[in-house]
Amino acid sequence: MKKFELMALAYAQDALEPVISKETIAFHHGKHLAGYVNNLNGLASPPNPSPKGEGSFDELKALKELVLNSEGAILNNAGQILNHNMYFEQFSADPKSPPTGTLAEAIVRAFGSFEAFKEEFVKKGTTLFGSGWVWLSADKDGKLVITQELNAANPIQKDLKPLLTFDVWEHAYYLDYQNRRADHLAALWQIVDWEVIENRYNQ
Ligand code: MN
Repeated sequence: MKKFELMALAYAQDALEPVISKETIAFHHGKHLAGYVNNLNGLASPPNPSPKGEGSFDELKALKELVLNSEGAILNNAGQILNHNMYFEQFSADPKSPPTGTLAEAIVRAFGSFEAFKEEFVKKGTTLFGSGWVWLSADKDGKLVITQELNAANPIQKDLKPLLTFDVWEHAYYLDYQNRRADHLAALWQIVDWEVIENRYNQ
């Protein structure tokens, strides 16, 4: 039977040091995310491939459908896989920064400047009470918004297109930063690959 799979990292576990340690990546990707994948496989099956055959199972699409149409444990585990896949995919040891083109223009329109955007994003992440995610998303008109999503929620549940996310669950930073969530979030800008975010925006 087809299973959901743990996404492969595009970089070595130590590639994001010192911003995120090898140990944190090993636990976060290899234990926490792997745990959500194992949980979901015990609860739900991906859709069967179409009769046309190979390459027809789109895991991202299947996860989004579960997030939009499920509840309880299936929603929580599918949401956490979707969130973490987008999170780990957006980092690089050799990132493009800052953003350019239409995304850069939209950031200035919405927040005044790239610096003001980063400040507001970190503030929203720091002030999220409990576990969750801070997101940059685009609405139907391409206008950018920052939202705080609790636990496993994802902006697609608000009809937004998710672009960038910082994980503020303690497991994302506690080994490296202990209680200093704001320091961790501020450091993440060093590894955000804006080419990935631009591609999401322009899709
Ligand atoms: Mn996490």
